[in-house]
Amino acid sequence: MSLTLTDVTLTYPDGDSRLTALDHVTLDVPRGSLTAVVGPSGSGKSSLLAVAATLITPDTGTVVVDGTATAGLSRAELTDLRRHKIGIVFQQPNLLPALTAAEQLQVMSHIPAEARTRALDLLDAVGLAAQAHRRPHQLSGGQRQRVNIARALMNDPVVLLVDEPTSALDHERGAAVLDLLTRLTHRQATATVLVTHDRTHLTAVDRIAEVHDGRLTSAQARSVSNSREVAQ
Ligand code: ADP
Ligand code: MG
Repeated sequence: MSLTLTDVTLTYPDGDSRLTALDHVTLDVPRGSLTAVVGPSGSGKSSLLAVAATLITPDTGTVVVDGTATAGLSRAELTDLRRHKIGIVFQQPNLLPALTAAEQLQVMSHIPAEARTRALDLLDAVGLAAQAHRRPHQLSGGQRQRVNIARALMNDPVVLLVDEPTSALDHERGAAVLDLLTRLTHRQATATVLVTHDRTHLTAVDRIAEVHDGRLTSAQARSVSNSREVAQ
């Protein structure tokens, strides 16, 4: 397993008491597989990604990324882990207006000598080879989302975390983004978690888990028929 959350509970302050956002969540995601976590607004999806991304430390439970237990790591060590092992696709692309698509990717790289080549390769992989020189205002919403996804893969992460990637897209572009994430998961051998309130495009994902009030049903138990074993 390349991303493992075990018995994770997360609460937030809520007036005089606390709100339970994640309630004893356990999730295993192997490399080269895509797990979709589906649940209504407020069910804990973004919280789950924030914990998996090591951006929030849970109250209890453990997070293991590519064999590294995150409990007890310093801030600097967590930053380093994120830079090298975790790609995050936030709901809003947050592209820098002044940079071209290729430059959005290049600025992420921690290996500057290889950055340009890798950026162009990834833009090609997301179908944007011809748009590499374009700035965000010259791209469509769907194209910006694809730059956002390519950027998250720039440092060859083991774990790819994606928050509601289709929420701002029409049906056809939503389906294309899901197809792209499935292909990239297999091509880059990432342990991918995608959270969404929308089941529409989840036909080809490896596993589906549901989250309600912070409680996750077992992803394994809901395996879909095309689920496959991938060599670690
Ligand atoms: P989702 O992404 O499924 O909409 P979230 O993880 O954002 O759900 O939120 C889960 C619950 O935690 C919601 O009730 C939300 O209001 C609450 N919540 C999220 N972030 C915070 C926060 N920073 N402080 C307090 N409560 C929060
Ligand atoms: Mg959310």
